[in-house]
Amino acid sequence: MSDTHAAARPIDGKAFAQGLIDRVTAAVARMKAAHGIVPGLAVVIVGEDPASQVYVRNKGERTLAAGMRSDTHRLPESTTQAELLALIAELNADTGIHGILVQLPLPAAIDANAVLDAISPDKDVDGFHVVNAGRLAVGQPGLVPCTPLGSIMLLKDALGDLSGLHAVVVGRSNIVGKPMAQLLLAQNCTVTVAHSRSRDLPGLCRQADILVAAVGRPEMIRGDWIKPGATVIDVGINRVPSSDPVKAAEGRTRLVGDVAYAEAARVAGAITPVPGGVGPMTIACLLANTYVAACRTLGVAAEDLAPASAD
Ligand code: NDP
Repeated sequence: MSDTHAAARPIDGKAFAQGLIDRVTAAVARMKAAHGIVPGLAVVIVGEDPASQVYVRNKGERTLAAGMRSDTHRLPESTTQAELLALIAELNADTGIHGILVQLPLPAAIDANAVLDAISPDKDVDGFHVVNAGRLAVGQPGLVPCTPLGSIMLLKDALGDLSGLHAVVVGRSNIVGKPMAQLLLAQNCTVTVAHSRSRDLPGLCRQADILVAAVGRPEMIRGDWIKPGATVIDVGINRVPSSDPVKAAEGRTRLVGDVAYAEAARVAGAITPVPGGVGPMTIACLLANTYVAACRTLGVAAEDLAPASAD
């Protein structure tokens, strides 16, 4: 393709996420009617981190709106690890709760890995438990982390068959980069995982038919790192000063991704915007995971949550 390539098609994650939420809501209503069962999600938050408070409130509201039970456990900053583990044990044993989510970050005095690994893997709707990481790695059914799950849904919707495509994932975190690479491998992509020690990152990115950016560095990936026609999934959410100097002086901010959107959109075939791309998929996949977890616990077949037009 030449540099006269038309502007990339924006991938509308917000609309796709709403469709998924609608399908989950309908499936939950049918589950309730047929079996008298309401999936339940428990969210645990420790401390007063303002951003976490907003996320947790949002999760609770969205869970209720989808027709599910939502319990929020707000614990003080002074909570000990033993107290938190005791609550997790209670929730693991609660038959009305099918999903458990512990909002991160936890206070420094608490070992987050110990807490995440105390959650029953079958209620681990964040998909962070080592058992679920293992299930994903070996191709067994499990619960998959929400952000990469949402990203692969957007890719399948945009491209259909991903088989044989070269996917480059920039970032190797346990919550995004690594599970994303596993999901792409399961779709028969050839997968390269890049990170802070990778050599010639621009050159690696230029090989990508599918480029997934999960770095946490505002607009690091430039337009000339992108292969013409590639599909770009920008997972990054970075808050930077407003581009209007007056607003910036007032401390106003805006959100940008890890990809320089305007430059990339001139080269890519399709690209997720920030905001409105991957972000909305994360909460939609949390609801989907809660529904799926409830179905598995109860031995009820989960409805197919893919859009009707997908293969
Ligand atoms: P982490 O900080 O855990 O991981 C970042 C990764 O990027 C690491 O693997 C790191 O490499 C790599 N990296 C950092 N700098 C560079 C560099 N200069 N060149 C190449 N690789 C680099 O972040 P997360 O995975 O948790 O999140 C990534 C982004 O996604 C963030 O912006 C976050 O806000 C966003 N996010 C968005 C979500 C959503 O709902 N849309 C949900 C979760 C995250 P190394 O391992 O070598 O240090």
